[in-house]
Amino acid sequence: MRENSPLHEIKKLKGKLSRKIDKFLHQLANEIVDYATQFKKPVIALEEVTHIRTRFQKNQKGKRLNRRMNSLLFRKLQTYIEYKALKRGIAVRYIDPTHTSKQCHRCGVITNVSFHRTFRCPHCGLVYDRDLNASINIAHRITSSLGWGTRECPEQPNDVSVAKT
Ligand SMILES: [Zn+2]
Repeated sequence: MRENSPLHEIKKLKGKLSRKIDKFLHQLANEIVDYATQFKKPVIALEEVTHIRTRFQKNQKGKRLNRRMNSLLFRKLQTYIEYKALKRGIAVRYIDPTHTSKQCHRCGVITNVSFHRTFRCPHCGLVYDRDLNASINIAHRITSSLGWGTRECPEQPNDVSVAKT
């Protein structure tokens, strides 16, 4: 291929971009692992990749290649996190994320009612930041799979603080 042919230029740009993405994934993985080190017994939870792929297929109406790229990048990020975490003695667990964002972390009810950034439980009335609720569910799945405890709510009913939405 000629040095300054358009195809050559595209190839050069592609290489530049993938190096940039790779650098970004490494930084992200470092930040996640660094964050985990502040805890006493840190465990990093990662979604099983098959679920990530399914979710992208459901939510994204883009091209199939886009979806494949996304799940490949997620997989790459997970590999970096796992490698860096294990090097520092931090456990990594893969979890099935099914319903983590639809389930109430306080009473366990699964609801299909979705609000923008807020989770509202029709059963027990819990109002909570959607991502925090999902994170607590993920933490519950990890701790119960490790035998560290059962589903215990971090706050009492009627003493619900609304996290920032
Ligand atoms: Zn509830």
